[in-house]
Amino acid sequence: VFTSDNVPQAPEDPMFGLMAAYRRDTVEKKVDLGIGAYRDDNAKPWVLPVVKQADEILRKDPNLNHEYLPIAGLADFTSAAQKLIFGADSPAVKEKRVATYQTISGTGAVHMGGLFLSKFYPRPSDQPIYFSSPTWVNHNQIFSNVGLSSKTYPYFSTKTKGLDFEGMQSALESAPEGSIILLHACAHNPTGVDPTREQWKEIAKVIRARKHFPFFDCAYQGFASGNLENDAWAVRYFVSEGFELCVAQSFAKNFGLYGERAGAFHFVTGPGPDAVNTIGRIFSQLAILQRSEISNPPAYGARIASIVLNDPALFKEWEANLRTMSGRIIDMRKKLRGKLEELNGKDGSWRHITDQIGMFSFTGLTEKQVLKIRGDAHVYMTKNGRISMAGLNTGNVEYTAEAIDKVVR
Ligand code: PMP
Repeated sequence: VFTSDNVPQAPEDPMFGLMAAYRRDTVEKKVDLGIGAYRDDNAKPWVLPVVKQADEILRKDPNLNHEYLPIAGLADFTSAAQKLIFGADSPAVKEKRVATYQTISGTGAVHMGGLFLSKFYPRPSDQPIYFSSPTWVNHNQIFSNVGLSSKTYPYFSTKTKGLDFEGMQSALESAPEGSIILLHACAHNPTGVDPTREQWKEIAKVIRARKHFPFFDCAYQGFASGNLENDAWAVRYFVSEGFELCVAQSFAKNFGLYGERAGAFHFVTGPGPDAVNTIGRIFSQLAILQRSEISNPPAYGARIASIVLNDPALFKEWEANLRTMSGRIIDMRKKLRGKLEELNGKDGSWRHITDQIGMFSFTGLTEKQVLKIRGDAHVYMTKNGRISMAGLNTGNVEYTAEAIDKVVR
């Protein structure tokens, strides 16, 4: 029998603990580098100008109502989401071998993929799914919730503060044939380290040779380099190579629609005479999963994104907004590295700050140093030394560099 006395206290989510500690801190010069959301140069949330425009268009629509969306989501949104990630000329899209569902942002898309694979991907039940070490912490919980155990492949080299490419490759080679391999499409969270195009090609070779199944998590398209094509390159390369794969796509960061939960899950089958039938069967199974979990996805965020994605002028403006965000972050990387080198000599040890890309940087600071910076300077970052570049601005970047410099000396 169920008794509520048997429910143990769960450990606190480390991110919530960090945020609460930051809020409690009354020192004015405190700096929040934990936050996983974009902030402008005044440390304030930024509503993209193009999102404001889309919102006005939406509000003026006399036919707007609050009916349910279809189970698969807003059709104009899901078709535009496909084109965005795979490219308008994608063979997979043209040949109609992509099944797409609108999801509860990227988290919901990762979950849908995990749930689908837990039901239909035939592997020994104890065969794990492979994550990079480290990875977004939520991956562990999302996949274990659907009964998939996990292992890690080496990814971040603490020595070079870049990619441990050999380690990654040999782990993928020795993983049991047919393993599911989770890959970050761009702007790896938490490290900010991405493979080069040549390295992606090698990764694809191993995955092909070992008959693994690639699962791309794409939470930062356009937000990383400021260029939507560049950031989708790895996914598009795998599709062009004929892989069967899936993609979890988030619109939280690139549209600043965090709380609106706009996302999409895509399953792509390989080319072939039977591809359309196969995708039809997969689509039908995904409908059951979607129906039983959320029935219908939320409308507002998808409507906003859809208005922008389907209007060439607004799309252009969105690209400019993306460049504003990614450009400010790249600028902060340069400023942080510059100030650290000014304080510490140009021995190249802060190069990784500008080599890494996207929202986050893995500084290489130890947990002890992280806690010391928090105590002494009121600069808040996660214990693994990850900083959110979006938390830096012209008003606090020098102060932050000085605080870091003090603990590494
Ligand atoms: N995957 C990765 C790697 C992420 O960093 C995030 C955002 N933190 C997500 C997925 C999902 O975010 P959301 O559910 O807000 O779209």
